Amino acid sequence: MDLGIKGKKAIVCAASKGLGKACAMSLAREGVELVITARTRETLEATAAEIRAATGAKVTAVAGDITTDEGRAAALAACPEPDIRVNHAGGPPRGDFRDWNRDDWIKAVDGNMLTPIFLIKAVVDGMIARKFGRIVNITSGSVKSPIPELGMSNGARAGLTGFVGGLARQVARHNVTINGLLPGPFLTDRLRSGFEEAARRSNRPVDEIIAERSASNPAGRVGRPEEFGEACAFLCAASSGFIVGQNLLLDGGSFNSTMG
Ligand code: NAP
Repeated sequence: MDLGIKGKKAIVCAASKGLGKACAMSLAREGVELVITARTRETLEATAAEIRAATGAKVTAVAGDITTDEGRAAALAACPEPDIRVNHAGGPPRGDFRDWNRDDWIKAVDGNMLTPIFLIKAVVDGMIARKFGRIVNITSGSVKSPIPELGMSNGARAGLTGFVGGLARQVARHNVTINGLLPGPFLTDRLRSGFEEAARRSNRPVDEIIAERSASNPAGRVGRPEEFGEACAFLCAASSGFIVGQNLLLDGGSFNSTMG
């Protein structure tokens, strides 16, 4: 299926690893020109080289912290008129809310709510003027089904989702869409570190934890990041302009509901 986005330009934030990288790879396969970001320059450059080698796409690596004004400005300077923007900024830590102080919360809200909002603000008017825009926010299944030890993720991302629900409907008539992709368990470094922590706590091998978690999922496994990337590319397709303000859950069916 030709998604009709060959030659478009995209900024994919926080994309040296995991789900961001998978989104970048899928867009590059569609012929999209990329700017990718992450804080660790070496890993980011290696990922850019890997995507170039796999797809032949033009990929520019911009190292920086996307939660800062400087980090956001650097990404935009490298791609001032993006057609596509994929937003996320890592995830907040796990823990007990009794241990989190105001600074911890401000950091989580800044990274998982305000950063994507400012990333959208920087590009949305240009997209409106050019009559094409696809913005995808990577949030979490925790938006629909809260995860007890990820209270800051549950809260901050729900805030972003509420804001975007309103904005998406104000920009859709200009062929600019904003949607959320909600990952369930995808085997990235982040998920693996969660499994490793669970293994330490229960004094069991990590492979046993992964097998247990896989067996409890209706799909009988955890997700592959490339599946997530393909869903992202689909939301960015030229023909996806009528998919507006949606939150697509990719969790193998874990969230148990008849619909929605
Ligand atoms: P990951 O494997 O840990 O990768 C995170 C990526 O983001 C890395 O490239 C990292 O590079 C970059 N990054 C982190 N903070 C950044 C910042 N402030 N500025 C720029 N880049 C930054 O994580 P993931 O599993 O792909 O998760 C992606 C998102 O989905 C996260 O928000 C996560 O909470 C959410 N999520 C994931 C899962 C899952 O199962 N994997 C489930 C639910 C939600 P540097 O560290 O070098 O900056």
